[in-house]
Amino acid sequence: MKIVGLTGGIGSGKTTVAKQFNALGIPVYIADDEAKLLMNTSKIIKKQLIALFGENAYKDKTLNRPYLADKIFNNAENLEKMNAIVHPEVAAHFKAWVAKQQAPYVLKESAILFENGAYVNCDYIITVTAPLPLRMERLLKRDDTTEEKIQAIMNNQWNDEAKIEKSDFVIVNKDLKETQLQVQLTHDKIVNFIA
Ligand code: ATP
Repeated sequence: MKIVGLTGGIGSGKTTVAKQFNALGIPVYIADDEAKLLMNTSKIIKKQLIALFGENAYKDKTLNRPYLADKIFNNAENLEKMNAIVHPEVAAHFKAWVAKQQAPYVLKESAILFENGAYVNCDYIITVTAPLPLRMERLLKRDDTTEEKIQAIMNNQWNDEAKIEKSDFVIVNKDLKETQLQVQLTHDKIVNFIA
């Protein structure tokens, strides 16, 4: 089974593009969502996070997000330690999920595919891009947030140029219909490559 990584900066349209691939019959694993879910359901993660951050890491059996956010905010060492606990579990969960899929390839969507190094395990990589002002506009419309908060997240992500350099395909997501055409074209190319 070939693994195709799908990434892009916040608000570029990864999820939108992933849905279009899914409509072509491609299974999609949304790594960021699965990680969040596993942090609540995995006993191994829970045990280790409590050992690291104390009993307050969980509240009423679910992850105490504000508490944890406070622990990792501006604390690179704690963030790294948390990632070292969560990433192996997500990787194992992904592997088990892949084994159950029947398709020419699967998509792994992650906002931080490059940043966390997961891209090295992908056979191909697609980066979704969109002009910065358009991304900002979409996010302000979608989320209850501010320009400053979005900018802070963007500052922590690789820029498009760096991502494009390491990608096999780039999908420019401005007009939805044009995006759909690029998705179809990319899908055809990947299927051809692996045939
Ligand atoms: P995040 O990094 O926050 O997960 P994302 O890259 O997955 O974001 P989406 O959630 O797909 O981005 O898109 C952000 C918002 O912009 C959504 O509300 C989505 O519906 C909208 N959007 C995405 N692409 C387009 C488009 N081509 N035209 C209009 N709206 C779009």
